[in-house]
Amino acid sequence: MVFKKNVLIVLLFITISYMLVFLWKHDSGFTNSLEGIIYFILPLLSIISLHQSWYRSKDNVKLTLLSKQQEQELAISEQRYRSLFQYHTDAVFSLGLDGNIIDANTKFLSMTELNETKLRDFKFSTVIPPMSMAKVLRNFIAAKKGKSQYYEIAIKDWNGNHKYLSVTYIPIFAEDKVNGVFGIAKDLTQLKETEKKINHLAYHDPLTGLPNRRYFESLLDQAIAEAEVNNKMLAVLFLDLDHFKIINDTLGHSTGDDLLVAVGQRLSQSLANDHITARHGGDEFILLLKSIDHIEQVINNAEKVLGNLQQPFLINNHRVSVTPSIGISIYPEDANNSQTLMKHADKAMYRVKYQGKNHYSIYKPLSDGKALRKVAISKDIHTVLEDNQLEVHYQPQICTTTGLIYGVEALVRWNHPGLGLISPAEFIPLAEATGVIFALNDWVLDKACADLKKWHEQGYFIYMAVNVSPQQFYSEESLSEKVNKTLDKYQVSSNYLVIEITEAIAINNMDIAINKLIELQGLGVQIALDDFGTGYSSLSYLTQLPIDTIKIAREVIDDIGSRSASKAILSAVVTMANDLNLKIVLEGVEKEEQLRQLMHFRSHYMQGYYFSRPIPKSEMDLLLDEWSGSRLLKVLAL
Ligand code: C2E
Ligand code: CA
Repeated sequence: MVFKKNVLIVLLFITISYMLVFLWKHDSGFTNSLEGIIYFILPLLSIISLHQSWYRSKDNVKLTLLSKQQEQELAISEQRYRSLFQYHTDAVFSLGLDGNIIDANTKFLSMTELNETKLRDFKFSTVIPPMSMAKVLRNFIAAKKGKSQYYEIAIKDWNGNHKYLSVTYIPIFAEDKVNGVFGIAKDLTQLKETEKKINHLAYHDPLTGLPNRRYFESLLDQAIAEAEVNNKMLAVLFLDLDHFKIINDTLGHSTGDDLLVAVGQRLSQSLANDHITARHGGDEFILLLKSIDHIEQVINNAEKVLGNLQQPFLINNHRVSVTPSIGISIYPEDANNSQTLMKHADKAMYRVKYQGKNHYSIYKPLSDGKALRKVAISKDIHTVLEDNQLEVHYQPQICTTTGLIYGVEALVRWNHPGLGLISPAEFIPLAEATGVIFALNDWVLDKACADLKKWHEQGYFIYMAVNVSPQQFYSEESLSEKVNKTLDKYQVSSNYLVIEITEAIAINNMDIAINKLIELQGLGVQIALDDFGTGYSSLSYLTQLPIDTIKIAREVIDDIGSRSASKAILSAVVTMANDLNLKIVLEGVEKEEQLRQLMHFRSHYMQGYYFSRPIPKSEMDLLLDEWSGSRLLKVLAL
């Protein structure tokens, strides 16, 4: 360009010189017009063309200057691009059309633990598992066709650690053709781990690590679909720990938590691997038995679970016993969807609670009447203390030597506005489950003490026995304080009050139970151990617990005529109780024949329908008035 410019300047110089020489030589003018054209027009044209060339060449100079600037800009842009490539926080690499690596950034090198010299030898097959190779190739081929691609892949790095990557392929275009592919690999391992943790938290119970209710429902849905295809049955077992609240209250929440973890583990171990154990919440677990052919399989599993849980747990140096109540529903017999199956299993579990706990029951639809009654009772239990719906009935206890009424047992009744009198056997379990039991027991204690005071004022110095449920025994507010306050309120002597407890209070912490009982005895109150001969009954309780009286359960008395074993048991218990100086009450005496047989045992008191059913205070007033002990005296005379 510069050369052309110089030539033009020389030519211009020659032309102008030539014209000047000519003018100097021909100052007389042109001979003809042709000469004029030759001497003037042509040089003029040359000058014009030279002038234009000059300008053009000037433009060229300008262009030359411009391209230098562009070159500079290009270099900067190249550097910027290199920086983007080189210092990108993700691994960036470029591939040739043959799939071999051409270039890679620092992150790629650090991720692959390579240096630049070894980069050329790098083979993707060394990190990509064979199973994922097809996916990688498919995306690479698509990128070579000019379309960006995105995929995720799990790889094993050089140290054998699993990594999770997202890979983006971007085609490299040059002159409208793809001549390579850029790859950007992002390490998602951390993200996936967090995602996994969040998922685990959303679907598992944080305490036991077992699937939670939500997850269980989805597993159940899945299992139902499989069972339908394979023509199999499945079972949902709803399991609730009896008296768990007492364990929490006596041994502390952290022991309670540890126990729940241990129960979860024992449940999982009790079941075959393909079955599922989940925590429903609180002290409730749900089990799913899959691929069932016969109902016997379900029963066997339920019995195995019962048996395994009955072995005591050793938690923080405490021997802790739990018993479960298990309700069972079966697919497809009871329902064909997860929610109804769980609802039915829950109902079946409540039936076990009603019927004495520590067992299992398979769902049976209740007849309409029964179902409605149950719904009404469950719904209204919270209002039991409103509008004088509660009543206390009294059942006399008869002294076997004098035949006189020695005392009464206070037994609560619920006078439901729509259903009439409801037995405590029906609503006490619900009151316990809903926590209403605390207020209910307080009310009974208050009423019993008020009535006792009235009888004492009338000259009937009888004893009053009040039932205390395990929950109330372990309630946060001290039972002895409450009892003391009530006795104080009515100014009755504490010697006339008998607190009836069951062995359930002692199964998990004998020491606490003993302390609480001693506290009560310190007030002057007597303690009776109720329902002896049922449940966990152990003769050792008689020696360990500070009690004054033992009440032998109706179930033992019932069998006395028919089972020689019952006679032997009764005989042993009575002998032992007498040796320990405990007073003995025989419960559930219904018939004269029973009474005749029971008179052979050295008991102190008897209670049962034979003498009187539990009756309202007004009737008890009359009975106290009229009682001559005639029935017993008649028998004594036999
Ligand atoms: P329990 O303490 O064993 O009370 C004796 C139960 O046996 C009473 O049933 C009574 O009516 C019944 N009974 C008495 N004699 C006979 C008989 O000769 N034959 C038959 N078949 N039954 C007889 P009830 O009143 O239905 O009470 C059931 C249970 O409810 C009681 O059993 C007691 O555990 C509980 N309960 C009753 N009142 C209260 C209360 O105020 N608080 C608490 N926590 N529980 C209560
Ligand atoms: Ca009782």
